[in-house]
Amino acid sequence: MPELPEVETIVRSLRKLTAGRRILKYHPLRNDYIHQGLEHRKKVTNSVIQEVERRGKYIAIHLSNNFSLLHHLGMSGRLLLQPGSDPLEKHTHLRILLDDGSVELRQRDPRRFGFAAILPSVELKTFVSWSHLGADPFRLRAPRFYALMAGRKQAVKSFLLDQRRIAGLGNIYTDEALFRAGIHPVRPTGQISSAEAGRLLQCIRTVLRESIVAGGSSTNDYQRLDGTLGLFQHKHRVYRRVGLPCPICHRKIEKLVLNGRSTHYCPGCQT
Ligand SMILES: [Zn+2]
Repeated sequence: MPELPEVETIVRSLRKLTAGRRILKYHPLRNDYIHQGLEHRKKVTNSVIQEVERRGKYIAIHLSNNFSLLHHLGMSGRLLLQPGSDPLEKHTHLRILLDDGSVELRQRDPRRFGFAAILPSVELKTFVSWSHLGADPFRLRAPRFYALMAGRKQAVKSFLLDQRRIAGLGNIYTDEALFRAGIHPVRPTGQISSAEAGRLLQCIRTVLRESIVAGGSSTNDYQRLDGTLGLFQHKHRVYRRVGLPCPICHRKIEKLVLNGRSTHYCPGCQT
């Protein structure tokens, strides 16, 4: 699933390549993929892309006519900018034609856990999946992070995956950040000290930053806006490395299942 670094990579490319461009047509190929605002689709014609924003794993494209386009890539979604003459690939659910139609944004999503929506920009603030998101890990302060965890029995990995607490982390980056912080994924959050919380937040930011620089992790379906792969999967230290040696203590990486999610960790380094 695209997580914060993958979505941020797409957002940065969108800003660079689509800002100032005019929308010729918002063209859903599956109406049920547009979770909200299908009736507004003709109103966005001729509007200009002004700003692209990321919150957690969500992308909002703000338009000149006070509408915003919301996108979530779910498990297997891709947002691609390509020539309008390219053949349509299977599972393309949305085409947004730009300029004279020679270029378009296409959203593909074989498993359809993602979605798109059109909203008046003022309504974005109250749109549930956007407004209920927790803090961005780059903006969250360590004391607040510690306060969010204090007194809870929940496993730290489950806490980190809860988008209402901290937004943008998924299976890859929780595993990688917990490894770097030396914290076992099932430890109850309430047992994590203030110093450990500070270190964990730093590790989360570092791993996210390194991944953004590498263009994200292409472990499954993720591709960048131009269809190329991210490279951070080559830098993973524990994620999907079961049986391989830990880069620090050389014990074998293990896997456990936590709330249905595969969780990778080093039994030597993470206590
Ligand atoms: Zn180790």
